[in-house]
Amino acid sequence: MSKRATNWLLGAAGLAVLIGLPILGNWARRDAQPRCALDGARIAPLFRIRVVDGQGQWHLFCCIDCAELWLKRQTEKPRAIFVTDEVNGQDIAVETAHFVRSLVAAPTGNGGRVHAFGQVADAERHAQAFHGTILTDRAKPFSEVR
Ligand SMILES: [Zn+2]
Repeated sequence: MSKRATNWLLGAAGLAVLIGLPILGNWARRDAQPRCALDGARIAPLFRIRVVDGQGQWHLFCCIDCAELWLKRQTEKPRAIFVTDEVNGQDIAVETAHFVRSLVAAPTGNGGRVHAFGQVADAERHAQAFHGTILTDRAKPFSEVR
């Protein structure tokens, strides 16, 4: 191979790396799991909490405890809070969710034991199976910030 052809090949390879790395970086970030806005922990989809702040910005949290801690530091009331139904992974407005404190720790770093359900029957089933208590009134998560 001539020196000129070798130089051309090296240049083309360098160009491919220059163009390819940012594309690869974007692809890797796109597939990365979202992180908790409070502690940076990975968010398990079934335990995700979404908070819409007073400015309309979304914030994701890994668990109820993180979202509550973060909300206590805010000066404005949130516009909305959504928890995730542990049974089917769907978002539930916090006002309509049923919460159970049980012996089962959520798979998040801090080991929270409060679980969210969309259906009261699912909450009762979890409470019965895992020695839980259905939370009411002020015992419910986020009752201080709503
Ligand atoms: Zn967190």
